[in-house]
Amino acid sequence: MIIRGDFGEPYCSQSCHEKGGKYASAVMLKNQSGVCGICQKPVQASMYGTSNCAIVPYEGVNLFICNSCTVQGKAHLKSYEKCCMCQKTL
Ligand SMILES: [Zn+2]
Ligand SMILES: [Zn+2]
Repeated sequence: MIIRGDFGEPYCSQSCHEKGGKYASAVMLKNQSGVCGICQKPVQASMYGTSNCAIVPYEGVNLFICNSCTVQGKAHLKSYEKCCMCQKTL
């Protein structure tokens, strides 16, 4: 069974899907900054302020995807064949 998140990222189970959502929200709440995983542009995450990226849990870290890389990010995650949360092969 594969469950996909908002960015098409795959999860092996409902429980991993929920964990992934909580994980991304936690990063947003902390207003973490980082670099886009696709184009390496600096990004700023924010739950209530100005956020210019999305966050997807990926191989145990958070993957930032800037607003300009939404399409590429989704395409990449669609072809990813492991659970984004627990790395189980799907
Ligand atoms: Zn980008
Ligand atoms: Zn999983």
